[in-house]
Amino acid sequence: MSTPSKEQFRFRDPSLTKRIVAQIQKLAPPHEVKFCHVCGTHEWTITHHGLRILLPETVKVIAGPGCPVCILPAAELDEAIMLALNDVTIVTYGDVIRVPASESSLQEAKASGGDVRVVYSVSDAVRMAEKEPEKDFVFLAIGFETTAPATAVEVLNKPPENLSFLVSHRLIPPAMELLLGVGDLHIDGFIAPGHVSTIIGVEPYQIFPEAYHMPTIVAGFEPMDVLFAVSMLLKQLKDGEARLENEYKRSVTWVGNVKAQQIVEKVFRVVGGRWRGLGRIPSSALALKPEFAPYDARAKYNVKIGKSRDLLPGCLCHLVMIGKINPPECPLFMKDCKPPSPRGACMVSIEGTCRIWAKHAVIH
Ligand code: SF4
Repeated sequence: MSTPSKEQFRFRDPSLTKRIVAQIQKLAPPHEVKFCHVCGTHEWTITHHGLRILLPETVKVIAGPGCPVCILPAAELDEAIMLALNDVTIVTYGDVIRVPASESSLQEAKASGGDVRVVYSVSDAVRMAEKEPEKDFVFLAIGFETTAPATAVEVLNKPPENLSFLVSHRLIPPAMELLLGVGDLHIDGFIAPGHVSTIIGVEPYQIFPEAYHMPTIVAGFEPMDVLFAVSMLLKQLKDGEARLENEYKRSVTWVGNVKAQQIVEKVFRVVGGRWRGLGRIPSSALALKPEFAPYDARAKYNVKIGKSRDLLPGCLCHLVMIGKINPPECPLFMKDCKPPSPRGACMVSIEGTCRIWAKHAVIH
């Protein structure tokens, strides 16, 4: 474990925590308010540090679809499984291979003889393809705005011809917009994700206060960051205002990482995309631009799959992923669905809400 930095120590100061919790108590309204974050790491911070226990009864923080592994639709895993069972080597990130697809998983495809490999980065996939030119490799590229630049860089670098990409990158702001259309969710404010915002900046969230009168705070990942964000949201509600504020100024700027954005724009175009259990969200996915078609695995292998199934019977991941229910409200939680034997995608990844609650939540 790494030693906390001076900055992290400041953010873990117990007296500061007491002050900010007192501030939250003072600002909390008598009626219920609900703030939604959209980030697996925020959920980890909140649950691991028991922050919900520090909040007044009327202040709820719910988890939105912020886990990139959880929202990967079964159809796109089915594509990878089909290729793995047809002599193509599938390369992807660790958690992905355990996620249930429509009928099986990449792990089961591997057990059935498919060549499925886990890597830490897309450049590992490039190296593998270079070392084994006789094999066909496909990199299943998942993740939000944070990981898309790494994929884009490798595509621009012209990887070997025996490597192509199943692009499953997704974009966070359109998913946040979807949540505002869920009739009975009634969100009162957003805690926008820190990691994604280091790339896209603060600006893309402007739509939320401007078009939806929704207070929005970009926040970091220390417990104090989250508590600060909650207090800032409460202050806006008390003042009857909706503003976009940046709590995470030490890492996030208004414009974000412009170079990374330019690289992504060079390689990808924005398209509609399916999110597991949530359906198709307009302008929420990335696809390779036509000039990079030779690297598009879907076109290269003419991938066609049948009807897909995002949720196994009884799994309520679609409700967990929009913060409609907490994991213990799923009848399968810690019964038929546990981290070693997940029934749903939310129990697989370390960023999945069910997995985080299974490992860290104090459940009464
Ligand atoms: Fe899905 Fe398991 Fe979570 Fe239930 S406990 S919602 S089955 S991941």
